[in-house]
Order: sequence, then C-alpha cells, then structure tokens
Amino acid sequence: MLKDLEHFQELAKYLLQNETDEPVAKLIEPKILEGQLQLQLSEQGINDNKHQELLKDILRFTPKTNTNRFFNQLFGGRQSKGVLGELLAVMLNNSMYTYKVAGPQVGIEKAVINASIKQINYPVEAGGTFPTGGSMSNFMALLMARDWKQPDAAQEGISSKMTLYTSAVSHYSNAKNAAFAGVGRKQIRKIACNDKDEMLPDELEKAILNDIKAGYQPFYINATAGTTVLGAFDPVNEISAIAKRHGLWLHIDGAYCGSLIFSEKYKHLLGQVNLADSFSYNAHKMLGVPLTCSILLVKDKKHLYQSFSNEASYLYQSADDDFNLGKTSLQCGRRNDALKFWSLWKSIGTKGLEALIDKQFYLADVARDYIRSSADYTLYSYDDSISLCFNYKNWDAEELCTRLNVNGELMVGYGHQNNQSFVRLVTINPNNEKEDILNFFKVLEEQAK
Ligand SMILES: *Cc1c(COP(=O)(O)O)cnc(C)c1O
Repeated sequence: MLKDLEHFQELAKYLLQNETDEPVAKLIEPKILEGQLQLQLSEQGINDNKHQELLKDILRFTPKTNTNRFFNQLFGGRQSKGVLGELLAVMLNNSMYTYKVAGPQVGIEKAVINASIKQINYPVEAGGTFPTGGSMSNFMALLMARDWKQPDAAQEGISSKMTLYTSAVSHYSNAKNAAFAGVGRKQIRKIACNDKDEMLPDELEKAILNDIKAGYQPFYINATAGTTVLGAFDPVNEISAIAKRHGLWLHIDGAYCGSLIFSEKYKHLLGQVNLADSFSYNAHKMLGVPLTCSILLVKDKKHLYQSFSNEASYLYQSADDDFNLGKTSLQCGRRNDALKFWSLWKSIGTKGLEALIDKQFYLADVARDYIRSSADYTLYSYDDSISLCFNYKNWDAEELCTRLNVNGELMVGYGHQNNQSFVRLVTINPNNEKEDILNFFKVLEEQAK
C-alpha cells in the first residue's frame, strides 16, 4: 500500500503541475479514445512503471475542473480540506449503514446534519441524510411526500392519481422521479414562470384547484432554489402558503444554491426555508466539496423512518436506531460523503463557508459589470445570480463555446431560455480572482476574432 501511496503522491503532483501547464485538457475524439489512451483490458497485467505512465496520460487528457479556465458546470475548484477528507474516506472504506461498522463516522454525518438543521432553524424533530446527489435527494423527498399523503402506498401501491407541481424550468430529475415513484410523468404539472424564471404562485394555485376539481390528488410541490440555467429562486413564502392551504408537501430543491443558508448577505434569496417540509442542497456545488455531497433535511424525521426503514436482523445488530443510519437511507451499503464536508467545515468554520459563497457573488458582480460596460455583449441573466448568461456580438453561443473548448482555451457551456441561446458563465469557483474573470473575457474575445 505504501508504495501505491507514493505513486499517488507523484501522480497528484503531476496533475497539479499539469493543471498550470495545460489548464484545458486537449480534447480526444470519443472514437479514438480507447486506442489513444490504451484503455483496453487484457488477460495479463502490466508492470508498475507502465501502469503509472498510463495513469499520467489519463490525468493529462481528463477535463480539468479545478483550473481558472473551467466555467462549464455548477461546480469547480478544489477546497483542499474537502479533498483531504475524501481521501481519508477512501482509505477507511466504511459503510455508513450501522454504528457497528462506521463508528465515529456516524457522529461526523450527524454533526453535519445537525449543524445544517440549525442553520435553517428547523425544529428539534428534524432529521436528514446524505443521498447520492441532488436528483436522489429530490426522489427521497417525493417518496416521503407520497407515503405521507397515501400511507398505504408503500404496501398497496398508490390508490388514486396523484399530481405534483414544479416550475417549467426545474431540474429534469423531477420527471424521472415521478416515473420511479409510480406517480407517472404525466401527472407532473409544469408551472409557468415570470421573465426571471421564478415560478408564478397564481399559476400554481390555479393548477392545483383544476386538479382537485378533476378528481386528482395533489400532493407535492417542488420549489427550486437556484434554477439550473438562470439561477432563479422560486418564491418559497408564497408557495408555502399555497401548499398549506391545499395540504401539499413542499420540498425545496436547493441542489445549486441551497448553500446560501451559510451567507448572511444572500440567504434572503431563499425565502423562509423552514416553511418547507424538506430541503436539500449539494455541498459539491457552491461549497466546493468533492463530488458527490448532497444533504437532504426533513422537518420531521419520522418521515424518513416511515419511508426508508426496513428490519434486517443480519445487518442491524446494535440497538440505537438513531446511530444506525441505514434506517433512513435508500441504499444499503453507502459511501461516506460526510467526512469531506465535515473536514472542510471544521477547518474553516461556518464563517469560512460564508466567505466561499460571498466570493462567488463578488466574482459574478465583476463579470456582470464587465458585460454591462461593453456594447458588444448582451446580458440575459439577472442580478443576484452567479450564472451569467450572455452573448458576444453576433456569435452563436454553441459555436463559440465549442471553439473555445476544442482550441484548448476555456471550458464554458451554453444554455437557453425561451428559444434564446446564450453562453453561460458560472462563477462558482471561489479560488478564482477578479483577474481570472477578466481573463475569461479577454480569451473569449481573442478567440472570437
Ligand atoms: C444539480 C442540480 C440537481 C441534480 O443534482 P445531482 O447531484 O447532479 O443529481 C437538481 N436540481 C438542481 C436545481 C440542480 O442544479
């Protein structure tokens, strides 16, 4: 093992240097990938030197998500104490289902969940878990809502057509999850939004009333805190009043921007989170914890037990349910996603998490000011968002982004809203500085020439 740890350190150092030398990996066409990187597996193994050289090549050509040229996704940049925690989780290789096997790691997961609960002022009955990602957090919330509305559903299957509500621009996992939950994709009502992509509460209530009249059973509203394209926030306070009026579960999908709970300056954008029955956020997005790290919080933890606990005498061999985390998770074996977040949080404190968030908004302001200051740019996104959607001159967004990537200059994505496509720059990497953002525009303009 020690030898491979030395190998690891050599490879990690190589990668860090390579990220400086080649911040955008050269694109390998998928058709020639297998041959070029010698990915084929065979009967005989290879020696360590060859193995090490192959791994180096693979590192070199894998897209670099940690550099100051990566703006392509809703994550980016390394938080080193998060990486440290992740590496140790791999070394320990616990499974999080029981206290017997996970020991102090259970306490670590509970510490993160309890501190998150405190952050949103949920009551003492609240609980939570670490699903495999934001999509799975949404799925677990949907299942709890289904079982709450139809307590027989888990045993008998659902007994009447249930309907759920989410904005037209919400994450696509909502559609898949409705299918998985036995509710059906056709039972989703996609509620219209205003210009800023915020769900319209009046439209929501109208749709619910229509469904009640038509004999459906409305049961679940998904409000998005940070939509995937524009970074918009659904009006949680108004939506909550509607949910209460008609007896629906309210879940807030904060996968993208739920981490604003840590920022005094920006948390008002979320609305009053503790009005919701459940809330999820991805620490692997705005907080820079290595993928994946998603936290699902529930206002009353009994719902987690009702939907996810199952007796298993071969597994649960010590008494305290509260420390046997498998009773509230979807999986059986579950990797340790808590240690990396705990390691970061412990190291920099809640104040440090806040600084990460506020830095991203500062970088977004730098970018927005630049875009607004030049007649060559058109801005499509709004203030209070770290997703900057814009076009440059007459360039087609897709063509410009592809060119920047193929030429090894920048990784940035494009998106669209109402048939308008645009470049989407996400200032989510707090390791960047003002110069990195200004350099983004410089490189883009040079390529466009
Ligand atoms: C990223 C995202 C998700 C999905 O999270 P995964 O961890 O990728 O499954 C869900 N909802 C929103 C709003 C997101 O931005």
